[in-house]
Amino acid sequence: MSTVLIIGAGGVGRVVAHKCVMNADVFSKIVLASRRIESCRAIESELPDGAIEIAQVDADDTVETARLIESIGADIVINVALPYQDLTIMEACLKSGAHYLDTANYEHPDEAKFEYKEQWAKDQAFKDANLMALLGSGFDPGVTNVFCAYAQKHYFDEIHTIDILDCNDGDHGYAFATNFNPEINLREVSSKGRYWEDGKWIETDPMEIKMVWDYPEVGERESYLLYHEEMESLVKHIKGLKRIRFFMTFGESYLTHMKCLENVGMLGIEEVEHNGQKIVPMQFLKTLLPDPSTLGERTVGKTNIGIVASGMKDNKPKKIYIYQVSDHKRCYDEVRSQAVSYTTGVPAVIGARLMCEGAWMKSGVWNMEQFDPDPFMRELNRQGLAWVLKELEG
Ligand code: NDP
Repeated sequence: MSTVLIIGAGGVGRVVAHKCVMNADVFSKIVLASRRIESCRAIESELPDGAIEIAQVDADDTVETARLIESIGADIVINVALPYQDLTIMEACLKSGAHYLDTANYEHPDEAKFEYKEQWAKDQAFKDANLMALLGSGFDPGVTNVFCAYAQKHYFDEIHTIDILDCNDGDHGYAFATNFNPEINLREVSSKGRYWEDGKWIETDPMEIKMVWDYPEVGERESYLLYHEEMESLVKHIKGLKRIRFFMTFGESYLTHMKCLENVGMLGIEEVEHNGQKIVPMQFLKTLLPDPSTLGERTVGKTNIGIVASGMKDNKPKKIYIYQVSDHKRCYDEVRSQAVSYTTGVPAVIGARLMCEGAWMKSGVWNMEQFDPDPFMRELNRQGLAWVLKELEG
């Protein structure tokens, strides 16, 4: 039985808290901490009395975070705050002797660039402390990495190409809103695209490459090539890989709004002077946009995220598609969050569960595809994210 500290009481934090309570056979004590105690209180009030404890913490402060981890005796920290806090929370875990898990890789607040370098650099420190850090245990990154490992283990001698296909067909009824933290989301989709082919990264303009994919249970949708962080670790760990790309669907209205906001400078992350005050346009935009954690109740439709892998098995070409479909309304009925938060929070709890049970426990810093995918794939079916595997022609 383990004590878990969840940091970040946002959309994903809500799902993680609800699901940890549903996994009380492993998590005997659950503490939810965030920058604002009111955010924790709102989630606490949705759960049975005494199911979780709450605390206030500024996770940018390593010492304060380490003190909290020690005071509650946490065995593991699930970091679902923002990517900016990854390094300070990892350091706090090292100081206080707790395992670590997150769902998004480190990003510096002043530069829209995310990479694993600084988190991987802590591998030796985690090994020396006999602690584990599991990076990217959300859906993408997260489940998509596990799908790749599952394909490699059971279906291929060598995987040559992977396309990660992410479709959110949800409708929240607003003209414009983002389904998770607006700052993180808009920084991601307004950046240059990038994919990996024949050993090198190829950069594209934002939204330069698109294709139409027929997503099961959703239909044909335009999908745009983006850079996404799981590709950085997958190119290292999937043998024989020749190309990997990531595609995400966007509706026309979303893209038009985004282009307009970008053209007028509202996506800027540098400070500007406004009426004698310094403001960051992107942060001001976040204040104006609907809070993603309030979208759940209004959102209908489905998400479909998966991977298509092609390669060789027994000297014959092979191609498979593994995907997972979630229904926004069903997620809301279960844990009061829409499917984007749900599909991120559930894998975080599965990752933490496998670590606490010992099925996925090795000291050091690891990515998802470095572990046996089978127990994770079993848990996905048990915990609300049933998946489908299809063999494709050609
Ligand atoms: P939200 O903005 O809804 O929630 C983030 C929470 O973090 C907020 O509630 C905020 O607290 C808290 N927080 C921010 N700064 C601090 C701090 N310094 N100390 C303590 N708490 C802090 O974001 P989401 O829930 O949508 O996303 C959470 C994470 O999940 C992000 O890292 C995001 O990138 C990742 N993600 C990963 C996905 C995947 O598939 N891998 C997909 C979607 C998201 P407060 O309310 O108290 O101010």
